Amino acid sequence: MSVLGNLLRDLVEGCAEVIDLTAPLSERTPVIQLPPPFANTQGFSLQELSRYDERGPAWYWNNISMGEHAGTHFDAPVHWVTGKDGPDVSQIPLRHLVAPAVVVDKSAECVEDPDFLLEVAHLEEWQRRHGPLPEGGWLLYRTGWDARAHDQAAFLNADETGPHTPGISVECARWLAERAPIVGLGVETVGTDAGAAHSFDPPFPCHTFLHGAGKYGLTQLANLAMLPPTGAVVVVAPLPVVGGSGSPARALALVER
Ligand code: MN
Repeated sequence: MSVLGNLLRDLVEGCAEVIDLTAPLSERTPVIQLPPPFANTQGFSLQELSRYDERGPAWYWNNISMGEHAGTHFDAPVHWVTGKDGPDVSQIPLRHLVAPAVVVDKSAECVEDPDFLLEVAHLEEWQRRHGPLPEGGWLLYRTGWDARAHDQAAFLNADETGPHTPGISVECARWLAERAPIVGLGVETVGTDAGAAHSFDPPFPCHTFLHGAGKYGLTQLANLAMLPPTGAVVVVAPLPVVGGSGSPARALALVER
């Protein structure tokens, strides 16, 4: 049987499964909040055009509005100044949107410390157990933060010193950009950088280094707990917004059972 025929048979028989990594989009979907004087993104909203009524007797439809970086979304290299000459979201090679994914799980550590940072040593330890990070693939960083995605305050977890959400150290971000064979980093939090990364040196190192290296971000992922450490294939579908810095995306994973 063909490769795709085998895949479809395995899906029907339950030997393979599709997992939705996408947060539902609604007016309650959390969005990042930047402090003044920075401009903020719109959250998601629906504006009803007609619902089987005098505005459209047989049809229901809406306009939608949202920022490019609302909900589960894709960050293109051009999102950051270090990647300003890189591809926009309409120019991402399709091979990078269907790719192997591995999961590094630090959810237990993040319960103890919401400012937990992934270090190069954690990834070296992970690689000793599971093998190398995938060439041309995605590193998905599980922190348990998706459990907070129903509540913007819990999700952003901010106090007077700013947001406290897990992330990646400066050195580890540089390592992922320059040394690791991955094309992108996926996280459960509102952005690829830690909540406190505004005060790192450099600030927002994941954005700075990954986008500068032509790599991608994928945020507000759900259900990473349902993925194996290795062996999943992710299918990420950002809208091809011409000139766009990113896009809300449907992110799916194919896993073997
Ligand atoms: Mn973003």
